[in-house]
Amino acid sequence: MRIFMPACKQGQPMVSFQGPPGLPSINMDPFFRRKDKVVFVMGATGTGKSRLAIDLATFHRAEIINSDKMQVYKGLDIVTNKVTEEECRGIPHHLLGQIDPNFNFTANDFKQHASLAIESILERDRLPIIAGGSNSYIEALVDDHPEFRMKYECCFIWVDVALPVLNSFVSERVDRMVKAGLVDEVRRMFDSTAEAEYTHGIRKAIGMPELDEYLRSEACGINDEETQERLLQTAISKIKENTCILAHRQLKKIRRLCSRRNWNMHRLDATEVFLKHRVEADQAWEKHVARPAKRMVGNFLVD
Ligand code: ATP
Repeated sequence: MRIFMPACKQGQPMVSFQGPPGLPSINMDPFFRRKDKVVFVMGATGTGKSRLAIDLATFHRAEIINSDKMQVYKGLDIVTNKVTEEECRGIPHHLLGQIDPNFNFTANDFKQHASLAIESILERDRLPIIAGGSNSYIEALVDDHPEFRMKYECCFIWVDVALPVLNSFVSERVDRMVKAGLVDEVRRMFDSTAEAEYTHGIRKAIGMPELDEYLRSEACGINDEETQERLLQTAISKIKENTCILAHRQLKKIRRLCSRRNWNMHRLDATEVFLKHRVEADQAWEKHVARPAKRMVGNFLVD
């Protein structure tokens, strides 16, 4: 949030304090203000970053800037696991489903768009919360952007979940995505006349390359049902495997950032939440994640 020191009325001189004899007086620049504050919610895919960002935003009058490099694009809402309108609970989200899926949105683009969004959120006297799994985007914004640390004070929250628990959760999540229409979503974007090229834009999303062989042979109509079913199951297994690999890589990157002196990361262990069900899982979320995070942000804002 933006905290201004009280400005002088027009025409009034700057306040000046006379220090001890021999030392220069200190001018209180009326335009001096404390650094603006920005919160980051980080974590591997599936850990609950989006949920926590929304919990924090409803509590601390904030808006959210998405930092998942696939969720910035329009389309593939199921595949990329975008939050639904209902899940957003009325909290404004920036950089979510806005970019042309054929455009290659880079870390540089993210820096520019995220910086503009931060300023616009601060202008509305709200707290910017940056949430998403693309650590290279966050690193580029915070570390390759010298003014960033000069302008903003940062609070980094890391939602962590023990990997074996997370692996089984993301695998089950893929099954739920398939039931929700993942294959149809990819099929609508699939072009069997084009080359299998998955290096640009939203085509890099896990789910697109994995389903290529299945959708290509479906388009040719050469295989029997049994072969098609086998190809589909192979693709789904590959999506699960690649999502687990992604979670592992993201976790390694967060640990690397943690070891840096100026990345004062606050880790919250959400493993308990994933070992429970329904009401008990919600209670564990409040106890181990939402409540401590709200407190951390509260302390950060009054500091
Ligand atoms: P890298 O430098 O490896 O791209 P990163 O930190 O910039 O890492 P990640 O968020 O870890 O970005 O994404 C790496 C890759 O994982 C993406 O290029 C994409 O293939 C896949 N991926 C990331 N997020 C999603 C998502 N929401 N849905 C589907 N695939 C995703």
